[in-house]
Amino acid sequence: MTATGEIHDVATRPVFEVRNPGTGDLVGTYPVHGPEDVAATVERARAAFAWWYGLGYRERAERLSRFAGVISRRMGQLGAVIHDETGKPFSDAALEAALVLDHLKWAGRNARKVLGRRGARVGLLTFNQAASVEYKPLGVIGVIGPWNYPVFTPLGSIVYALAAGNAVVFKPSEFSPGVGAWLVEMFGEVVPEQPVLQLLTGDASTGEALCRSGVDKIAFTGSTETAKRVMAVCAESLTPMVAECGGKDVLIVDADADLDEAVEAAVWAGMANAGQSCIATERVYVHRSVYEPFVTRLVARARSLRAGIDAEAKIGPITMPKQVNVIRHHLEDAIVRGGRVLTGGVGEINGQVVQPTVLVDVPEDALAVTEETFGPTLTVAAVDDMDTAIERANASRYGLSAAVYSKARGRELAERLRAGMVSVNAVFNFPQIPSLPFGGVGDSGFGRIHGPDGLREFTYAHAVARQRFAPLMAMTTFDRTAKTDAFIGKAMTILHGKRRLK
Ligand code: NAD
Repeated sequence: MTATGEIHDVATRPVFEVRNPGTGDLVGTYPVHGPEDVAATVERARAAFAWWYGLGYRERAERLSRFAGVISRRMGQLGAVIHDETGKPFSDAALEAALVLDHLKWAGRNARKVLGRRGARVGLLTFNQAASVEYKPLGVIGVIGPWNYPVFTPLGSIVYALAAGNAVVFKPSEFSPGVGAWLVEMFGEVVPEQPVLQLLTGDASTGEALCRSGVDKIAFTGSTETAKRVMAVCAESLTPMVAECGGKDVLIVDADADLDEAVEAAVWAGMANAGQSCIATERVYVHRSVYEPFVTRLVARARSLRAGIDAEAKIGPITMPKQVNVIRHHLEDAIVRGGRVLTGGVGEINGQVVQPTVLVDVPEDALAVTEETFGPTLTVAAVDDMDTAIERANASRYGLSAAVYSKARGRELAERLRAGMVSVNAVFNFPQIPSLPFGGVGDSGFGRIHGPDGLREFTYAHAVARQRFAPLMAMTTFDRTAKTDAFIGKAMTILHGKRRLK
């Protein structure tokens, strides 16, 4: 075992291999940790939690800030590990690593303000009490992560859980264990004393063992289907969970939108990371008056991009081999139902490389409109007005994020979108703002990471009401008098009985 508590012994355990999705090269071999490994890791985390919590807010913030320093100085190294495991272009990998740094600092610096003990107001009948609330760490948090943003996404839970005073056991995706190992090792450099952040590697079986291990909460990020399985296992022991799941996000374009900006936003939000973003735009609804020029420019821009495995390709391969079948199935289904491919399409799928694809005339009940495709594809539809755009956007069972392009009505339209996060005249802006909560509604999950909500997510509210002096009339006694009851009745009528509802 290492100083950070990882179990690297592959000799006595089943193992799995990780391959570069572009080249097929072997990039690592990792153990599949079983229930005994998981139990031992969680036990070490319990002891580490007591120590870490005891350090206090200031020292924890200092360590998180040093962690940010290590990541920023070794960004190239981290970018290379991300690139090798996910296939995403190197510069996108480095960008992902960079985006996490603000969160590390914000969470550390704001934890005391958000979670520390504060006074709470008391009422007329309790004016002799002093009330306060503090948000205390839960203890040990199990973090189960995906591979698509193997740094930014799990750290969204890990960093906020750590800042709140918890210890963390992290099981990265079986497609990106090397990124997880790198993060845990680097954290061990700034917190060498105790295994405050530990790694477990493996597949669904390891994830299930973590859910059953008695951790105080599971922070799960992954698909909606897996979240349901995780929740069922967590239910056995009443282990709470945060579920950050998939989406089918929209971009709506109003008649007065800046079309060039809207087009650039659509290709970036739809096709960056080969469309494998939980908050990727997959559906676009455009006001009919600007539909033709929008589609013409969108297709031209999509054609200017190329997916590949070489260093010049702006879009990398699809990371998970089985996802290519999902993408193909959604495209074929769209075409059978009358959809038209304006660029890309099934014929442009070569191994795990999928070229940017724009579809039009796709019916609203086609899979490409209803289910998460997770590829560099966009469906575009004309709408007569923004009411229709909102109606179609909100018809989804998902509700992760959405984007609006409109000069005059951006805020108003944003208000009406059923989604956890909405961008106005921009895309992918909210994850960069650490003070904003990140999460969805409906099949996109529940709970929040980032911001004050993200800190509180890994705590429990600890309320204290202290009697400062004896009450004028004792209420919580079997010796309560008729005079006291009459007083309570009168006081309640004065306070609540005579108000008229406006
Ligand atoms: P996935 O659901 O296949 O796996 C996610 C994680 O769960 C992996 O670590 C996996 O090993 C583990 N797992 C699988 N089965 C399990 C089980 N039965 N019990 C416990 N753990 C189990 O998802 P993925 O393919 O890694 O990631 C892609 C999905 O994640 C997409 O749907 C995407 O939208 C979503 N995602 C959501 C967010 C968000 O913040 N909302 C962020 C990134 C990705």
